[in-house]
Amino acid sequence: MIEVPVGPLTICRRLKEHGFAAYVVGGAVRDALLDRPPVDWDVVTDALPGQVAAAFPGSRRRDEQFGRVLVAGVDVLTMRSDGSYRDGRRPSEVTFTRHLELDLLRRDFTVNAMAYDPFTGVLIDPTGGREDLELRVVRAVGEAGERFGEDHLRALRALRLGAVLGFSLHPHTAAAIRAHATRVGLVAPERVRAELEAILLSPGVSPALEHLAAWGLLPAMLPELEPAYRQKERSTFRHCVLTAHYAPAVVELRWAGLFHDAGKVEGEGADHAASSACLAQTALERLRSPRRLIRQVVRLVEHHMFTYPEGTPAGTMRRMVLCLGPDGVRELLALRYADRQASGRPGLGEQGERALAHLRQVLVEGSAIGLSQLAIDGDDVAKALSWVPGPGIGRILELVHRRVLDDPALNQREALLQLVEELGGRPAENAGGGD
Ligand code: ATP
Ligand code: MG
Repeated sequence: MIEVPVGPLTICRRLKEHGFAAYVVGGAVRDALLDRPPVDWDVVTDALPGQVAAAFPGSRRRDEQFGRVLVAGVDVLTMRSDGSYRDGRRPSEVTFTRHLELDLLRRDFTVNAMAYDPFTGVLIDPTGGREDLELRVVRAVGEAGERFGEDHLRALRALRLGAVLGFSLHPHTAAAIRAHATRVGLVAPERVRAELEAILLSPGVSPALEHLAAWGLLPAMLPELEPAYRQKERSTFRHCVLTAHYAPAVVELRWAGLFHDAGKVEGEGADHAASSACLAQTALERLRSPRRLIRQVVRLVEHHMFTYPEGTPAGTMRRMVLCLGPDGVRELLALRYADRQASGRPGLGEQGERALAHLRQVLVEGSAIGLSQLAIDGDDVAKALSWVPGPGIGRILELVHRRVLDDPALNQREALLQLVEELGGRPAENAGGGD
């Protein structure tokens, strides 16, 4: 028995009352049978889209051609069988049908091709999805090669589904992915990114990315990782994948883990952070990632080799906190942790531990004092030095700020004004000052 929530259940009941067939279908049935909380519930019916809309005032028709009506957050789909696919993306015509089986047979994988009647408790499973759930295998409905030829996105969906559920891919399905590897490049970048991110955030990230590369999908999906893949014994690629795996399941950290060494080529030392950051940026821009995410990932990759040797003053951490934010520094440490774990070195390491201790100290003290939190401002500087406003004042403030970061106790009005006088009296520091 599947427990169907009241939303989709009510929709099914109303459709039945109007004389139509109605079932819950697809991913929700799959997840419910696996005891995983479904993300969203889909309802399938033999009512035509217009009839669905009429039965539910306030519903919204979307994707007219594909018979989708949105009812109170639930997608209600008219049963259909898809005609031929000409563009490798969408069927060029769809035919609505009253036969549930036809609708199930057009779906991608057996575990996604089940419907459930919430009133009788009957599972309609024409392709053996239940059995494949038990075998923990992703298997294309029908002839895999044909199905991936219709819609190239399915190859990615297979990898993603396997990674998310921790399932293996049926050999025929895997072979079809290989055969269609180059055509995956035709999938819209936004879709590729969505599937890649779902893979990255899944527990199966490591095997999925290894398959993705081994089956020839890197050129179409992540060409920026090819140099890493070409290294001896795939060592750099493997390390990147493992680092992503060990990183906390946060999208920017997983991307950063995946790319942190992407620019590392044999014989090169620690100077790979910048080239790796460039590769990450290229990849994420190509995948149309949001700017904010790109910035976060690039920054993490750029700084992932940061050193924090013995004797590093706490001022260094105050500057890091001001530049990256406390969360940015924490993420950098999390990346360090994952990076080390992926190369068999447990923990943060001596330098990482030192940085972490400083981070805690700085946050407890609240001593990462920003420019705007100084006990004096530009007006005070101008007054103290009898300068008119100009770039020289900013420069003095920056020097004061630098001192305060090295010694936060200095952040007192009197002490800072005295410091200003000293700095302002020095001809070298005064250059470009008032007039
Ligand atoms: P998720 O947990 O990501 O929502 P899902 O299986 O529900 O997984 P959806 O994208 O919501 O995925 O699609 C709903 C259902 O529609 C799928 O379960 C599958 O039956 C069918 N489907 C989705 N995309 C395709 C496709 N490209 N080709 C064939 N059938 C598809
Ligand atoms: Mg879904």
